[in-house]
Amino acid sequence: MPPQRLGQHFLVDVSVINTIIEAADLCSNDTVVEIGPGRGALTDRLVEDAGRVLLLEYDTDLADRLAFKYESNSNVRVLNVDAREFGSDLDPWLVDSDYKVVANLPYYAANPITRNFLESSRKPVSMVIMVQREVANDMAARPGDMSLLSLAIQIYSSAEHVVDAPPECFKPPPKVHSSVLKLTPSDGVRISFENAEDFFQLARSGFKSPRKQLHNSLSDGLFIPVENARSLVEQTGFETSRRPATLSLDDWQVLYDVWVKAGRPAQVPGSVRRKRQKNRAEPPQ
Ligand code: SAM
Repeated sequence: MPPQRLGQHFLVDVSVINTIIEAADLCSNDTVVEIGPGRGALTDRLVEDAGRVLLLEYDTDLADRLAFKYESNSNVRVLNVDAREFGSDLDPWLVDSDYKVVANLPYYAANPITRNFLESSRKPVSMVIMVQREVANDMAARPGDMSLLSLAIQIYSSAEHVVDAPPECFKPPPKVHSSVLKLTPSDGVRISFENAEDFFQLARSGFKSPRKQLHNSLSDGLFIPVENARSLVEQTGFETSRRPATLSLDDWQVLYDVWVKAGRPAQVPGSVRRKRQKNRAEPPQ
């Protein structure tokens, strides 16, 4: 991918850099992974404070420069990789000790990179990440403002806002504002489900039409009749007027359990479309 597409807005604001380093809370026997070290705005500070520093940089030129700079430091390794696909469960440093993540993330890949680490079997103990402000708000949202992204982040971690960073904190300045979040992954998953894909089929459906009432959104997303979706919501004991954004993690657990007990009602979208087309083609009785 050409460098201009890699979200390369380099941090230049010292106060934001200090705040990120403080939030990372590193000590000399910590292993830290920096995602997208770029020109190293945070890297020297990480090398100073932590025991081992693993740098994941997708841009080959930048990765080569960093490898050259830290050539003589055996506590620093540079990998020229895509952090969306990096396997933390395979890296020898991350398998043999706890690790923390620090990153000023490229906007285009902030969600998949974050989820790759949170969903890994070798999760970090903390992640201090800079992302676009709206994404940070979504990741850390409370019931009333929840989205599919809030749920995807919060079932694996708790999210805390650290600091905001306006465009002038970067060179070149991005068009949007940014925020730093600290995510603390939980020991297990905060909702108990049989498997993530199963839970997210329901969650994606619940947010299919986020402005509608929950049962209407579920009906749209699961391709089931509205009355069946309303009956599911009634079995949870929730008000039927509730909208998807108001559900807490505990509420999602209740809804998921009801859905599983009801036999996971859902239809494959193709079969509904085919049925509708077939119905249209049929002559009126
Ligand atoms: N950490 C530096 C700073 O704060 O100045 C650079 C941050 S810049 C917003 C994002 C960095 O992530 C760039 O160095 C970019 O090349 C790198 N990057 C972009 N996509 C990536 C990916 N998929 N995996 C790893 N690094 C990536």
